[in-house]
Amino acid sequence: MAKIFCVANQKGGVGKTTTAVNLAAGLAQLKQRVLLVDLDPQGNATMGAGINKATLEATVYHVLLGLNDIAAVRRTSETGQFDVLPANRDLAGAEVEMVELDNREKRLKDAIARVSGDYDFVLIDCPPALSMLTLNGLCAAHGVIIPMQCEYYALEGLSDLVNTIKIVHAKLNTDLKIIGLLRVMFDPRMTLSQQVSAQLEQHFGDKVFKTIIPRNVRLAEAPSYGMPGVVFDPSSKGAQAYISFGAEMVERIHSM
Ligand code: ATP
Ligand code: MG
Repeated sequence: MAKIFCVANQKGGVGKTTTAVNLAAGLAQLKQRVLLVDLDPQGNATMGAGINKATLEATVYHVLLGLNDIAAVRRTSETGQFDVLPANRDLAGAEVEMVELDNREKRLKDAIARVSGDYDFVLIDCPPALSMLTLNGLCAAHGVIIPMQCEYYALEGLSDLVNTIKIVHAKLNTDLKIIGLLRVMFDPRMTLSQQVSAQLEQHFGDKVFKTIIPRNVRLAEAPSYGMPGVVFDPSSKGAQAYISFGAEMVERIHSM
């Protein structure tokens, strides 16, 4: 059975998609069978995996509404060597349409359960909101990976996310836990980055991943080639960091 993880942070542009895509590719390189679920109408994870979001006949939207099974909708990322449950702007309508449905927080969980045996890991790239879509991600997952930039406002948003995770754990999904906080887009020359990073370690202890992802332009360039950064330029500092992160995740899972 697959281990299922959400990459979540309601703040926008903090590196969720970059983390989800590169972790998927990094785990695939470690011979893990991976499904990447794009749960964001922006479809960035889909594009970053080299799949054209504009020409898809069916997406995660159809899965959430019960119109298709994941097995019929998933695609393979040729560049990343993992499967993708793709998304595009159709998904923006799902929030409203799901209000009418039974069991609406658990639609994704139920759909993933039907293909769980095909994978070692399912990674869910959440949108930048604590919405019904993110709630579906949190209900489906065993754990949450929280990417964050080491800046002052990062800590403020974190308490809302941690509270939401606590509520979901208490009411909807007792399996759910925080796997770890991942420091991303890190710039060691900035004193503030160092300070916030130290604060995170103080507050969250070993919930902070040891691996730190540096700010690295190759990671930002890769999506325009439809490639994960770890494939686009494996020797870059950013790619190397995500490879180490993949290994740290595998280690953490074994000790869970
Ligand atoms: P959203 O909330 O809109 O979904 P996100 O949290 O998924 O955003 P990303 O799309 O991964 O964030 O990253 C935001 C921007 O920062 C992108 O342009 C991405 O290429 C860039 N980026 C992410 N990580 C890094 C990094 N380590 N170094 C340099 N650029 C990065
Ligand atoms: Mg994103």
